[in-house]
Amino acid sequence: MTMQSAAPRAKRILMIGAPGAGKGTQAQLIAQQFGVTHIASGDLLRKNIAEGTTIGRTVEQLVNKGELVPDSIIMDMLRKPVLAANAAGGYVLDGFPRTVEQAEAAYRTAGSLGVGVQIAIHLDVPEDELTRRMLARARGADDTVDVIKHRIKVYEEKTRPLLEYYQQRELLIQVNGARPVGEVTWSIVVQLQRAFKQRPAAARTAAAPDRAVA
Ligand code: AMP
Repeated sequence: MTMQSAAPRAKRILMIGAPGAGKGTQAQLIAQQFGVTHIASGDLLRKNIAEGTTIGRTVEQLVNKGELVPDSIIMDMLRKPVLAANAAGGYVLDGFPRTVEQAEAAYRTAGSLGVGVQIAIHLDVPEDELTRRMLARARGADDTVDVIKHRIKVYEEKTRPLLEYYQQRELLIQVNGARPVGEVTWSIVVQLQRAFKQRPAAARTAAAPDRAVA
């Protein structure tokens, strides 16, 4: 079986949420629930930084300042894991796309590869709660108050427009992410199950690349 022949059945989910919204936690739980791979662009970047790879050295300053890293680096870094996950049944993408430009680039690649994202989930959390959570989990250089504020600003300016992008193109699931973890997961699972049942056609991307959405 080739990668592309597995694609039509693959479940492709992406999480959109501000820093501190709980994307990583929920993405991991959702991936487990649906038996697909969790792919987190931020985790992959931090791994590269920790290992001192060429990518890691290039992006370290940007990540520490809460700036986005260049699209080309992200696309190159994600290409292999996304294809492998697609062949293995699907993925939950966490942290990508981060901008409309990235979504459009992914859409073009998806069209030619038969790989796309079919359902976007928005984890909605008010800003004061985001700041509180981020300070509570302070991870290191990228978690000072100024950097946290900057990361939220970058989200508002660059990432929030993605919500409209997905609402217009495919399915966007809205979730109140300010509730306890288990309740949020439950709400996502219920809505995803409903969506997969109602929209089996959304899974046909390899055969119909025009429907491949990322
Ligand atoms: P995260 O763990 O998703 O919050 O990502 C941590 C940092 O990695 C972000 O603040 C950015 O500097 C960088 N990053 C992660 N994903 C992307 C992406 N898709 N595009 C650009 N930069 C990213």
